[in-house]
Amino acid sequence: MRSAMAELPDIPNAGAGAAGGPAAGLSRARLEEIAKRHGTPCFIYDAAVMREAAGRVRAALPEGAALFYPVKANPNPAIVGLFAALGYGAEVASRGELALAMAAGIPAKRIVWSGPAKTDDDLAAAVKVGIYAVQVEALGEIERLAAIAAQLERPATAVLRLDLPKDSGARRGDWAGASSFGMDEPTAAAILGVRDRLAPVEIVGFHNHPTSGSLNAADFVRRFATFIEAVRRLSQEFAPRFINFGGGFGAPFYADDSALDLDPIAAFLHGREIQALTGDGPPPQLGFEMGRYVTGPAGRYLARVVAVKRTAGRRFAALDGGIHHLMVVSGTMRFLRRPVAVSGPPADESKSEPTELTGPLCAPTDRLASAVSLSKALAPGDLIVFSGCGAYGKHASPLNFLGHDWPPEILVDGDEERLIARRVRFEEVLALQSPDHPAAAEPGRVPP
Ligand SMILES: *Cc1c(COP(=O)(O)O)cnc(C)c1O
Repeated sequence: MRSAMAELPDIPNAGAGAAGGPAAGLSRARLEEIAKRHGTPCFIYDAAVMREAAGRVRAALPEGAALFYPVKANPNPAIVGLFAALGYGAEVASRGELALAMAAGIPAKRIVWSGPAKTDDDLAAAVKVGIYAVQVEALGEIERLAAIAAQLERPATAVLRLDLPKDSGARRGDWAGASSFGMDEPTAAAILGVRDRLAPVEIVGFHNHPTSGSLNAADFVRRFATFIEAVRRLSQEFAPRFINFGGGFGAPFYADDSALDLDPIAAFLHGREIQALTGDGPPPQLGFEMGRYVTGPAGRYLARVVAVKRTAGRRFAALDGGIHHLMVVSGTMRFLRRPVAVSGPPADESKSEPTELTGPLCAPTDRLASAVSLSKALAPGDLIVFSGCGAYGKHASPLNFLGHDWPPEILVDGDEERLIARRVRFEEVLALQSPDHPAAAEPGRVPP
């Protein structure tokens, strides 16, 4: 049975009109003004930077490639909505993300779902709304999907997520080989061998998420080539209609990062290996999941200096913001701590001093940057700006650890500015989960 669901609707060319010219940066004066209006700490995103990155991606990928926005990169509904407007589908990993993507205007037919522990309820939700494909991670999962779809009397579409062997260039932390994500090639072959028994599930193709946040183009070319070889071996008696190359395109985050060069990736994707995937039939739909690359550079995290002190020969500036909003800099989701891209009030070299930037948490990991060269005159109230914070920031952080407010998020689009997430006080969080908390009955009773 071939379900209509397997056809991805046309995706408009997001790049058209958006790729022209570099996005205008936000001046320090404008950042100061926004920070004054909304308070610190806060996140500020620049829509122009996201559209520009999306345009670069569009230009680099083969025509007609489908793009999926991985909601986990930045789940603010306005950001998801921005990518929906650019024609992106979504990659989701929970029922919450599925609901969010659909509420942001992404049709179910443009949604794929990944995740190593999808429950029966998750699979039933995917079948009921009719997403484009469940990216299946194991034999047991596709068997459950088949049983659930049969019970619901609905068709369902699956993509086999491959877990490919590590190659010599693999970095620590890359999910390549023996991970909880996806299946090895023999398992995929075995599933294809019994695919007739999996009705009403139809397998439409393959997925591989090669890496996370890599800035090395050669890395992608090598991994895509490995993926394509596996796809070719698995396609002897099966014609895939969808090949999803996953995500992981990096964006500069640390001060010494340079941007990912898309040219070698584009050359590979327009080359013979990809063209050879098309046999006699129509070419398979190619897919890409693009999160960090398109959102990371657009975001800034702003915090103010609360106190400055010198101890044991070092200067410390304690900020009102910390790793509870930006856990990524603590090293928890990274493997090295290097200087992040950070700026403070202007000062020339001779008038600056290495400074430890720490946050308000009573935890030694709450250090946002080390030995940053900042003005000798740095004082309480000064604004510190962290760049490259549009992805895996607020929502990938332990927001409730030590009871501080959730930071507001502001989206700037040219001259316009929109509060896209308000500040949430910790007592409001408590009131949500505990009806007998005083804040639930009488908001504002707990001293702000
Ligand atoms: C996390 C994840 C992504 C996100 O990738 P980016 O690095 O943000 O582009 C995409 N696909 C899958 C399957 C993921 O788990």
